[in-house]
Amino acid sequence: MLYTDKVNDLFSAQLSEWELARINYSQLGKVKTRRLGFGSFEVLVQFNPERIRSSAAKVDSKSIEERPCFLCKINRPAQQRDLPFNSNYTILVNPFPIFSRHLTISRNQHIDQRISNSFGDMLTLAEALPGFVIFYNGPQCGASAPDHLHFQAGNRGFMPVENDFRIEKLSAQVAVKSGIGIWHWTKYLRGIITLKGSDREGLSEVFDHFYSMLSDIQPDKPEPMLNILAYSDHGGWIVHLIPRKIHRPSQFFLDGSCQIVLSPASVDLAGLIITPRKEDFERLSKDDVTNIFRQVCFDEDELSGLIKEYL
Ligand SMILES: [Zn+2]
Repeated sequence: MLYTDKVNDLFSAQLSEWELARINYSQLGKVKTRRLGFGSFEVLVQFNPERIRSSAAKVDSKSIEERPCFLCKINRPAQQRDLPFNSNYTILVNPFPIFSRHLTISRNQHIDQRISNSFGDMLTLAEALPGFVIFYNGPQCGASAPDHLHFQAGNRGFMPVENDFRIEKLSAQVAVKSGIGIWHWTKYLRGIITLKGSDREGLSEVFDHFYSMLSDIQPDKPEPMLNILAYSDHGGWIVHLIPRKIHRPSQFFLDGSCQIVLSPASVDLAGLIITPRKEDFERLSKDDVTNIFRQVCFDEDELSGLIKEYL
């Protein structure tokens, strides 16, 4: 049995027996989406009230210590089935979806959210689940459980970055290292480095190199702030690295009508912005998106400099 079939069975079972999941997945069909055009690409805005848990999550260490960890088996809802993935991970249906197929992939042990030793696991997951984009949110840039290692996965073809990567004027291969193509994006509002290739060890090597250069820029952080998306591609992988400067934009902390409740993470920076509040969904403008992306991400020149330094 293909692993994908097991995941499909998990979905069918959970949608028939778990009311919370059934209701939330059926409501996804009614979710409103706006499209903001930026010339050669679009950014989508999704109005999704259930995601307020994630967007407004308290992720300071005191709040995290005081709450029961929702990824540990002992605290998970009784109706939530688990599907083992090798001996280290458990695949769960995410009951608060953004995607029509939305998974949480939780490490079996309660260990900190860190990518340095688990990047290879991401590649393994992307290979086993070719219908999904696997994504990782760093402990200080989007993970709502920074104390419990996990990935998420959403069905392919839903986040604009996948298609945008095929648009010639947005990205170009600028180098090859360890057999891996290094791609640099331009005029895309946010800096992204994409790695493309079929050599697993080469990919890990190139990833480790960028990780270490970014660590030098952010020596005070538990790890360099990163959002990562990975998916399979013709027997290899495409990996988008989105280095971060800050977690939440200044608008998040304003009062009243100036506030925008938006906590950008992998999905938002992949071009699908999630707004849990109606007022933000309705008024978010192209200028807001440009401004927010610039605050939270490195820009294309900074990443170009990083690539040059590597070479
Ligand atoms: Zn836990």
